[in-house]
Amino acid sequence: MKPSIYGLSRKALTNWVLENGEKKFRATQIWEWLYRSRVQSFEEMTNLSKSLIAKLNGAFVVNPLQQRIVQESKDGTVKYLFELPDGMLIETVLMRQHYGMSVCVTTQVGCDIGCTFCASGLIPKQRDLTSGEIVAQIMLVQKYFDERDKSERVSHIVVMGIGEPLDNYDNVMNFLRIVNDDKGLAIGARHITVSTSGLAPKIKEFAREGVQVNLAVSLHAPNNEIRSRMMRINRKFPIEQLFEAIEDYIAVTNRRVTFEYIMLNEVNDAVEQAQELADLTKKIRKLSYVNLIPYNPVSEHDQYSRSTPERVVAFYDRLKKNGVNCVVRQEHGTDIDAACGQLRSNTLKNDRAKARARIAAAKAKAGIEDGKKV
Ligand code: SAH
Ligand code: SF4
Repeated sequence: MKPSIYGLSRKALTNWVLENGEKKFRATQIWEWLYRSRVQSFEEMTNLSKSLIAKLNGAFVVNPLQQRIVQESKDGTVKYLFELPDGMLIETVLMRQHYGMSVCVTTQVGCDIGCTFCASGLIPKQRDLTSGEIVAQIMLVQKYFDERDKSERVSHIVVMGIGEPLDNYDNVMNFLRIVNDDKGLAIGARHITVSTSGLAPKIKEFAREGVQVNLAVSLHAPNNEIRSRMMRINRKFPIEQLFEAIEDYIAVTNRRVTFEYIMLNEVNDAVEQAQELADLTKKIRKLSYVNLIPYNPVSEHDQYSRSTPERVVAFYDRLKKNGVNCVVRQEHGTDIDAACGQLRSNTLKNDRAKARARIAAAKAKAGIEDGKKV
């Protein structure tokens, strides 16, 4: 299977051009065709020689994704189900924000972190996406605009789709550099956010990359007891180790970290837990931010439900009282399968049935009745 040319940074493309006996400026031309004119085939690169086009066709494809489903929500959110060259499915979401057009990209087919509230984690990781497959998601959303309203442009990226980005580290880093390239899509690093479930050693590595990309950490609980129940990654990298890495990240980058916190009714949303969260983040108060996220119910994870508005308000008020910077995140696309991984897992009915059986077996083993809170 030929790789996508979207996976090459400008430097890598220049090297390829030189290695293939072509002049350096050809790389600039190809780059502009890809990211400025946004053509979908090498044949459309009309200022290249026939032999170079043949070489390109021999080595790469342009776009490795096929669009399978597009769902548009009333609020303008668009959800895409894409098929990879090996037939696997991924999803991408476009969110219209007041500050611009934000795209949520997938980085892995499935996710091995297996958080107990997440639809993506229902299906184990089948493989990492290549950089080209991640860039292609942005290019296809941009194509969607190009075909409708040429003035619109993808201005923001959140790496919050299916998968754990720091578990596909090199491909994600390469992707970030490609979309950030000022001669290409030129999406500002400050407009890009990478979200992690908390791979502490990788957070430290990320701090030293010299990119100005924002980091979000899926915290979701103020102590190890609750967090380990929700996210088994916490057993590997408990809160102490995670915060040590976050403090290191802040010391190295002087950048602010966002904490994501899904509000789960009577699991992590009590006022005492808000106080614990405020205490936990006290040391990095000025350089941290808390996003309170409404839970998107996932039928397999019926032990969780959305916090009541009263509980959200009380939680928020307690954080504010402690001087925590926080917001309740706005929801997008609630009338479509917009929760992370939902469109894909709803499409993959067989895999989902297997996941259901796995969860039922795990619950039975742990002596938990269906629908009971854990
Ligand atoms: N694996 C990374 C990034 C992808 S998940 C991570 O976990 O951070 C992106 C965000 O969506 C995470 O904060 C995750 O906890 C959250 N999320 C997952 N399932 C959700 C659900 N059903 N409702 C609301 N948020 C969810
Ligand atoms: Fe994976 Fe993130 Fe979902 Fe956890 S929340 S299972 S890390 S995608």
